Amino acid sequence: MKDLLVLGIESTAHTFGCGIVSGEGEVAADERSTYIPSKGGIHPRESAQHHSSVAPGLVKRALSASGLSANDISAVAVALGPGLGPCLRVGATIARALAAAYDKPLIPVNHAVAHIEIAKLTTRFRDPLIVFVSGGNTIISAYSDGRYRVFGETLDLALGNMLDAFAREAGLPHPGGPKVEELAKKGNKFIKLPYVVKGQDVSYSGLLTAALKLLKEGFRLEDVCYSLQEYAFAMLAEVVERALAFTEKREVVLTGGVASNVELQRKLEMVAKEHNAVFGVVPRSLAGDNGVMIAWTGALAYSHGVTIDVAESHVRPRWRLDEVDIPWVSRGTN
Ligand code: AMP
Ligand code: MG
Repeated sequence: MKDLLVLGIESTAHTFGCGIVSGEGEVAADERSTYIPSKGGIHPRESAQHHSSVAPGLVKRALSASGLSANDISAVAVALGPGLGPCLRVGATIARALAAAYDKPLIPVNHAVAHIEIAKLTTRFRDPLIVFVSGGNTIISAYSDGRYRVFGETLDLALGNMLDAFAREAGLPHPGGPKVEELAKKGNKFIKLPYVVKGQDVSYSGLLTAALKLLKEGFRLEDVCYSLQEYAFAMLAEVVERALAFTEKREVVLTGGVASNVELQRKLEMVAKEHNAVFGVVPRSLAGDNGVMIAWTGALAYSHGVTIDVAESHVRPRWRLDEVDIPWVSRGTN
């Protein structure tokens, strides 16, 4: 939609982001700050405190970077879920305050839908099989009949979470995914680990436990990282292949923070080629959580009449991808 400018707020987990995007998908601002736990995994309350302390400054910076004032914005979009309750509430509070103070419509955005839409925008794919892998999600999805349907997912840990947990136990800094990737390149010994695919779904918790056991047994960290990645990505590639054979989509897109992993990209590209599908990856700069993807999904939703009353805009920590109506996609394309 021409002349549309949407400000998007992301705060579902570790990152507070504020993005401004036009109705054509041009990015006018992309400000973000990520909470890094001092030890252990993400502590929801600490992450929420981080978000509260950076939020006002980031919103101001986004507006000044875009050369806009709050009055120039057409609507405010916010990720209401899924995510960590205390973190979600910070973003929702800021978004509601902006919408109320400047008398702008408020648009509810599902965080998983946003990871998908930013991947579609940046790859120009129209109807892909989507592989969404991040800190908190491992989902294989495709559009069908008004919604993004789930064709496979993890039964326990998300891929990013599993890599982060492994890295943490191995004494590597957070986030662990990129460190595991780096070390895996120096591994050359393939060590047997549990490979768990159940129907269309993967399970990563047994793999994590077994990989940590290898470390205790004295195997080289590089070899364990290499083997861990091989198993984790091969399991995912298998369920992706099955979903691709079933849905017969002609495009495969990889999105979410773990999408930056080059070995995962290589494996999924091979699967896509086998099935005569083209393969694309969200750019690294938009792979992790950000406000731009919320603003862009907000723009799509708003141009199809989706808004929410401030009084109704409760956070939805467990809001599933396949519960969201997607009116901007028709017959599998947009
Ligand atoms: P997100 O939740 O979408 O912001 O993504 C964050 C997750 O992506 C964390 O679990 C990171 O460890 C993971 N990640 C980022 N870069 C890589 C990489 N190169 N390889 C594997 N995982 C990664
Ligand atoms: Mg995410």
